[in-house]
Amino acid sequence: MGKEKVAIIGSGNWGSAIAKLAGNNVKKHSDIFDDSKVPIWVFEEDFEGKKLTEIINTEHENKKYLPDVKLSENVVAVPDLVEAVKGATALVFVMPHQFLDKCLDQLEGKVEKNAKAITLIKGVGVEGPDIHVFADVIQERLGVSCSALSGANIANEVAIDRFSETTVGYRTEEEGQLWQKLFQTPNFKVQLIDDVAGVSLCGALKNIVAVAAGFIDGLEYGNNSKAAIMRIGLLEMKYFCQEFFKDVKEESFLQESAGVADVITSCLGGRNRKCAEAFVKQKKPFDELEKDMLNGQKLQGIHTAKDVHIFLKARDRLGAYPLFDKVYQISWEGLPVEKLTEGL
Ligand code: NAD
Ligand code: 13P
Repeated sequence: MGKEKVAIIGSGNWGSAIAKLAGNNVKKHSDIFDDSKVPIWVFEEDFEGKKLTEIINTEHENKKYLPDVKLSENVVAVPDLVEAVKGATALVFVMPHQFLDKCLDQLEGKVEKNAKAITLIKGVGVEGPDIHVFADVIQERLGVSCSALSGANIANEVAIDRFSETTVGYRTEEEGQLWQKLFQTPNFKVQLIDDVAGVSLCGALKNIVAVAAGFIDGLEYGNNSKAAIMRIGLLEMKYFCQEFFKDVKEESFLQESAGVADVITSCLGGRNRKCAEAFVKQKKPFDELEKDMLNGQKLQGIHTAKDVHIFLKARDRLGAYPLFDKVYQISWEGLPVEKLTEGL
């Protein structure tokens, strides 16, 4: 069997951080991976008068989305999506979830038959009463086996090699081990679990909880309130998974980085938290805050709150998930933020 050829699909804050790890690790495991080139698909744009791909390929740094972090020289920015995945056997999906569908439209029928994939995207696909994790969507649409990676992983911290953990929910143990080799470093510990859905859902749903935590910060209610939101949020995450995805594992919530640890880090330090605090204090809509505060990076939590609201409404189960629903009502329907804790 030939060596695995990696392609990274997405080059934002997390995409660039993970490209740094992958670019180094293919060299470390050059018996398994082709270490000559790790293409990273870049949604082309101009930054400081130059093409972002040109900046990445000459300065080996994504100056817009992950400044001051050097990427290995084998990480090569490619503006054409189909070109980026040509010949790749290990596909890493890492873009804001709102852009996945369009990418899959372009990739259908264009990826290697024996390829495998992993998604690092945090979100869910909802159509009325149907809900899907993205690993299943990618698997179905591209005909490749797709695992999921999620954890307490603020990208800027991982990128500068601060000790962190993550969880891979694998399709097969062999694939889990491959992804572990691609991402693990002495300071980025990759745990493996046979729970694609649990890992994926934790990553998506914790973003709703992080928005709620940001509201609490905006209201200046203090640490007890925030701890209560984290506890209630984690429980709603668990009940949701168990109600709608029968095979999820209890360990994913309580023992894995994807569960409780990601709730904690996101409620303390994430972008969803930060913008939700500003939503309360500055009284501006989220799209404006995203533009003002995130320099092109994207919020996921408010969109996931809307997706989950649509799904729960279609299933007539809104009442069972009051925190998720309050986040939706406050973010999208003008409910006063002071109502957040009412009835929880
Ligand atoms: P990001 O928030 O930095 O988003 C910016 C990216 O979106 C850029 O690559 C930009 O080119 C791209 N983009 C903008 N408009 C586009 C369009 N029309 N079509 C396609 N792409 C477009 O992205 P990120 O931080 O890499 O997040 C990707 C996923 O990883 C998300 O689901 C996020 O929740 C998850 N994640 C992020 C972090 C983090 O700390 N940043 C950590 C763990 C997981
Ligand atoms: P934010 O998108 O809220 O920054 O969360 C990042 C993350 O997923 C940390 O694990």
